[in-house]
Amino acid sequence: MENVTHKQFMDNLIARNMGEVEFHQAVFEVTESLLPFIDDNLKYKYYNILERLTEPERVIIFRVPWLNDKGEIKVNRGYRIEMNSAIGPYKGGLRFHPTVNLSILKFLAFEQVLKNSLTTLPMGGGKGGSDFDPKGKTDNEVMRFCQSFMTELYRHISADTDVPAGDIGVGGREIGYLFGQYKRLKNEFTGVLTGKGIEYGGSLIRPEATGYGAVYFAEQMLKTRNQLMKDKVVTISGSGNVAQYATEKLIDLGAKVVTLSDSSGFIYDEEGLTREKLDYVLYIKNIKRGRIKEYSEKFKAQYFEGKRPWDIKCDIALPCATQNEITKEEATTLVNNGCICVCEGANMPSTIEAINVFHDSKILFGPGKAANAGGVAVSGLEMTQNSMRLSWSREEVDKRLKDIMVNIHQTCVKYGSETDDYVNYVKGANIGGFVKVANAMIAQGVV
Ligand code: NDP
Repeated sequence: MENVTHKQFMDNLIARNMGEVEFHQAVFEVTESLLPFIDDNLKYKYYNILERLTEPERVIIFRVPWLNDKGEIKVNRGYRIEMNSAIGPYKGGLRFHPTVNLSILKFLAFEQVLKNSLTTLPMGGGKGGSDFDPKGKTDNEVMRFCQSFMTELYRHISADTDVPAGDIGVGGREIGYLFGQYKRLKNEFTGVLTGKGIEYGGSLIRPEATGYGAVYFAEQMLKTRNQLMKDKVVTISGSGNVAQYATEKLIDLGAKVVTLSDSSGFIYDEEGLTREKLDYVLYIKNIKRGRIKEYSEKFKAQYFEGKRPWDIKCDIALPCATQNEITKEEATTLVNNGCICVCEGANMPSTIEAINVFHDSKILFGPGKAANAGGVAVSGLEMTQNSMRLSWSREEVDKRLKDIMVNIHQTCVKYGSETDDYVNYVKGANIGGFVKVANAMIAQGVV
């Protein structure tokens, strides 16, 4: 067996997946750490695991026609990437955002496979969504879109096959409409979606899980350097689900969150957010569905239109908005301003060049597939509760979430520690997530 260089592997992948730049980026980052490991563990090469892992088991693309409030017919494109089911049913969110395309969903599905494996729960990886933009749509329009989307998707998913959840643009409201339509079409009440409302099979702590989990992960990273979260100045991007609950947990731990953002700009509150100020953010974003700018109109805070928060001085940065939102230049600014820890609440928010800056300067860097795995972990716990037809208490779910995040951190340290004791969490998460999936694939034969 010949050793394939990283360049040869990537050239082949790019030729087979032309123009899918986000997918190339995610695979590049993962295979960079995996190829040396595979060269030392020849069975993975013999079974050609990397090529199989980077080819989705199934890609579903479909038309989503719907009627707006004026009675006009609109058409969007729906997707579901069923990436890998070696260790459990496909599991991963649905994203509704105008930027959604095949490349973005394949990158997210690929990351999801390793992330789900890291949680230690039995979940394969998938991702889906649509280029539909819920912003500016009425509740009725969103409902009609969700019903049409599910009218095709329902035939490809089930509690034992593929279990979608939320992501950007898909929160409790959308999951409710999607679940209602699935139930109507299939005439069954099962745990086919996670992130459901608490009244109809949802889990306590699921809305909080990604944000809380990212903060628990950051706490573990800080602990390796004998540091605590208390009094740390934290910059956060985004003001959606992940950003909101990361902020809540940080406030409770005594940290000072000074920024939040949306796709229009960011606010800088030098005094830090409080619980009351955060309540107002939840009102702006979840009820009024407005812009983060309104925060600076209500409280003493600056607003920077069209900007991201990374040149604000901080101890810790938590990108919680979207992919590629920290460039090499922004990473350099963060490090030069004394940032000691970057913990990714979002998926792939740091470019490859930005990650190199963090690693070269030996600051703590927690990649999304480890740091934001708390969301899917509690989705896994929601599936368990649905199967058992019971609900655990808040305390019970939160404790399990914390244990899972501590466990993921230990796995990263196990596989990512380097000779100088620096923990490369990217390498640790990639190898730690890979081993279980690869071994299961080998055990199941050439399928
Ligand atoms: P939400 O839709 O609740 O919030 C997304 C936030 O990011 C909003 O503030 C939004 O601003 C901003 N945003 C979205 N796209 C862009 C963009 N292109 N440029 C700038 N800002 C943008 O999503 P979530 O909080 O659920 O997800 C945020 C990130 O976390 C995503 O990367 C997601 O994949 C990841 N994640 C989410 C999990 C979950 O459980 N929800 C689990 C694991 C990862 P605006 O309001 O202007 O659109």
